Parts: sequence; structure tokens; C-alpha cells
Amino acid sequence: MDPTVGTAAAPASTDFIRDIVAEDRRTGKHGGRVQTRFPPEPNGYLHIGHAKAICLNFGVAADFGGLCNLRFDDTNPTKEGVEYVESIEEDVRWLGFDWGDRMFYASDYFETLYQYAEQLIRDGKAYVDSLSADEIRDYRGTLTEAGRNSPCRERGVAENLDLFRRMRAGEFPDGTHVLRAKIDMAAPNMNMRDPTLYRIRHATHHRTADAWCIYPTYDYAHPLSDAIEGVTHSLCTLEFEDHRPLYDWVIEHTCPASRPRQIEFARLNLNYTVMSKRKLLALVEQRLVSGWDDPRMPTIAGIRRRGFTPEAVRDFCARIGVAKKENVIDIALLEHTVREDLNRRARRALAVLRPLRVVIENYPEGGDERVAAVNNPEDPAAGTRTLPFSREIYIERDDFMEVPPKKFFRLSPGSQVRLRYAYVLKCERAVKDAAGAVTELRCTYDPESLRGSTAARRVKGTIHWVSAAQARDAEVRFYDRLFLSADPGEGERDPLSDLNPNSLERVTGCKIEPALAAAPGTRFQFERLGYFCVDPDSRPEAPVFNRTVTLKDTWAKITARAGPPTP
Ligand code: ATP
Ligand code: MG
Repeated sequence: MDPTVGTAAAPASTDFIRDIVAEDRRTGKHGGRVQTRFPPEPNGYLHIGHAKAICLNFGVAADFGGLCNLRFDDTNPTKEGVEYVESIEEDVRWLGFDWGDRMFYASDYFETLYQYAEQLIRDGKAYVDSLSADEIRDYRGTLTEAGRNSPCRERGVAENLDLFRRMRAGEFPDGTHVLRAKIDMAAPNMNMRDPTLYRIRHATHHRTADAWCIYPTYDYAHPLSDAIEGVTHSLCTLEFEDHRPLYDWVIEHTCPASRPRQIEFARLNLNYTVMSKRKLLALVEQRLVSGWDDPRMPTIAGIRRRGFTPEAVRDFCARIGVAKKENVIDIALLEHTVREDLNRRARRALAVLRPLRVVIENYPEGGDERVAAVNNPEDPAAGTRTLPFSREIYIERDDFMEVPPKKFFRLSPGSQVRLRYAYVLKCERAVKDAAGAVTELRCTYDPESLRGSTAARRVKGTIHWVSAAQARDAEVRFYDRLFLSADPGEGERDPLSDLNPNSLERVTGCKIEPALAAAPGTRFQFERLGYFCVDPDSRPEAPVFNRTVTLKDTWAKITARAGPPTP
């Protein structure tokens, strides 16, 4: 790009789409204007793949001083609904994008689209076909065989107009007629073999109710919606590449002055998950998950509930970049960006997930001590808090082993560990029940060993703990991948047959430090355990946490092996 041309600053990062936009601005196409849109169909909740499209459309507009519209592509009344519209608005906003007063619906344009269709008929560019759906498919030919003209193809303008108006008026049942573009039944591109522009569907639409019983197809509605909104760059995924000649055909024969340009990019594919709305809907409808916002779902609502941050999702989208070539991104990269972001921002807390009671025999009965704990070592401004310490505490069951292997630097009879932010603790003996299971540890502490004091001693291991009297009970939900297979439903298999039966584990009776603020959405790092987020099911008297991600980063290992992803 010539740095001397153009008024808005060059974007920080670039890709083939931004290169095209920059070039269009340089040559003065669209008068230098940049207008994009994010066009979801309100027939499901948005997923992480949509986040890529959202970041791209809003990002390109922002980079070039342009605007991005939110447009609901609501041309299929039987599958769409207000719940989806509302969730989409919430999700786009949560990701941090603002469409200002430019929220539109394709259904806003139904009358205009209809008038353009009449114009196409008058120009001899469209006709009403009365073949059945099966016949139309049959006449269409194959990739190697040209199609045949429908017997209705040569209907006169007057007859076509009459039939089309009666279609609109509701005189015909579903499936009896369609409006088709008159292009070329021998075109090598099947999309150009007289594609359908309108079909009859006696269905109530969530916005236009029963005003219409004919609905435009995506291929007809989309280019015109772009043109009506003055979209300059219509960014869509690769499966629409073969539809681009039709996109251009529709514009050329209706409103050629507008010239929106369709550019295709590779969709986001992630391993260990599915990203088709149809498959996600199946998970919800068959109650294999708790809803669209189940924290295991790849939906925006799901990952929000899980504890992912919008910053991390935007960072992830920036890292994967935009390209023309299909690839599969490792879900570990997404988890890595979440971990990085939470490491910077999440408050630290102590929580014991599988508690084992410890009695510190030489600690004074009724002692009421406070120790200071750092809220976030990455963020000095987060300050410190105090934790109650007392004669009875809980530690993690895993942090004790009666017969420890080598290099087990935690507790076993006779060994010492540091209690995080507090004293050095020595295990004297384990108390067992009749069955031989450890029920309690009897320990002693070194009163001179408080962390930060001059007498502080070094021991090899540090473990977390909470004071028994003040600890609060909590439920913690652990999530694993929803699917066992990296490519669920590979080939012809039903992806639901690849479901991981252990993707959710609920653990109750966890012990958390007393003062954990429990507003849903609050995120913590439970030290040594991972990142956790307060679930909307949480109540002050019964807190519930979701594990967002573990502390351990598998991504570093993967990149060491394979190198960073190439966008
Ligand atoms: P599905 O195939 O699951 O039904 P869709 O693509 O039909 O999804 P839309 O609501 O039409 O869903 O998508 C809105 C926009 O988001 C489109 O421009 C589409 O290209 C884009 N999009 C959808 N899935 C992805 C993805 N995995 N990666 C990037 N962009 C996507
Ligand atoms: Mg779509």
C-alpha cells in the first residue's frame, strides 16, 4: 500500500482482505468508503466460528474508518425466531462490537426485493416455474451434463407477472410454483442454471407475521440487502465462492450502480468440536447439553458462561488470521489465549476441591490469625487481602500420600511443606477409619516460619489450604471436551456417537476461602488448580464455579513440536 494515499491510518495487521480494501480505497472505488456487515441467520446461537466473521467484519470497518452493520438474514421463517435475534445481539455486544443504529433485517427489504423481482420479470430475466421440486432437480442436470430448459421457461412477461402476483397473494399452496432467474441451463456453474429466487411458504415470520407467503432465497436476498445498505465489501466464507457469479448477476440486473464486492475467506474449523448450527441444535434438542449456553458448547454463550473473556476471543481471532485456505485450528490455542488473558487479570484465590481435614496440634485453640495473600502477582495494583488461619484447615486430598513416590514434595508422614502465604507444616501422622481410609491428618507447624518473616525457611513444596472454620462450601463443575474425536462425525459418522460421556464432572463439598465475591461471571485463579468462573446458577449461600481452563498449558508443547500456526 502506498503510505501517502488514503486518510485513515493503515491497519496494524494485514491480510489479503485488508489488502483488497486498501487497494480499493487507493483507486477510489466506492469513493473510498468502507461498509461491511455481519449477516447471521437468526436460526441458532452464534459460535466461535461466527466470532471470526464478527472480528473480521467489524475489524476491517474499524481499520479503515468505515462502518459495520448487523443484519439478520431472516428469509427462512420456519427456522428463525426472536430468541435467536436477542442472543445474537447480546453476543456481538459481549465481543465488544457496536453496530450503532445500524441493525437491519433482510425482512425490512421484502417489499423492495419484491419490486426488483417484478422488474426482472418485465426485463425477461425471471420466470415463474411450475415444475415440482423433484422435476426442477431433475432438469438441472449434473456437473458433467447440461441441464434442460423447463417447459415454463418461455412463459410471457404478462403471464409471469400475473402468476408471481398471485403467488404473493396466497392463491397457491407451498411448492406449486417458484420464481427463477433466467440465466443459462447449460452453465458449467450449477448455481447459474436458472436459480430459484422465490418460493412459496405459508409460514408465520417472526417479524412480518403473515404479511408474506413468498420468501426470497439467500442468493437473491443477500446481494440486494448488501446493495440497499451500501455495503462495499461483502465478506463471507468459502462455500459461497461458487455463488459469487450469481451474486454479481443479481446486482447487475437490478441495481448495477451499487457494486458491492463479495470476498470469500476460509471458515474457522476447530478440532474436538462441531460448528454447524444444525448439529449444535441437535445437542440442545436432544438434551445432551443443558442448553445453548452449556459451558461445553462452542457457542459464544457457552464460552462466556465457561469464563472465557471477550479479549481472549478477539486475541484468538487475530492470531488465527484470515486466509483463503481451509485449515483446522487446535482448540489448545484458544485455551492458551484464554489462559494468557486470565493470568494477567484473574484474582488469585485459595480453594480446596477435594478436602482433607488437617489438625495442627501445636497451634493454639481458638487462635484467630490473619495472613496476607497477594491478589495477583501479575498486577501489583490488585493489592493484597487477608486470609484467616487457624488450628484446623483443609488441604487437597491429592497433596497427601501415605507412601509417596520419589520427588513427591508434598505431605506424607514426617514430611514438611509450606502452606501458601503461611507457615511450614509437618505431617505427624494420618488418622484412618475402620476401612483404612485416611480421614484426617495430625500435623504440627513451625511458629517461626511465617512467610516473609526473617526466620522463613525453605522447603521444597508449597500447597494451598483454607481455614476450616471460615471456609465456605461450593460446587465446582469441571468440563472436558464434548467430543472424544478430534474430528467428530468424520466421514459419514453421526457426530453424536463421538460424544465424550465424561465431559462434565460436578464436585460438591469443595471448600473456598470465605470472602470470594460470588457475582456470576467473576473469574478467579484458584492457585495450583486453574481458572474458574462463577456460574449463573450460583447463589450467595451456595456458590457454583465453572472451571474455565486448567493451569497447565498444552499449547506451548504443541508449538514446540509443530511450530506456530500459519494463518
Ligand atoms: P451454519 O453453517 O452452522 O448454519 P452459517 O454459516 O449458515 O452457519 P450464518 O448465520 O449464515 O451461519 O453465518 C453468519 C456469518 O458467519 C456468515 O457470513 C458466515 O459465513 C459466517 N460464519 C459462519 N460460520 C463460520 C465459521 N466457522 N468461520 C468463520 N465464519 C463463519
Ligand atoms: Mg448461512
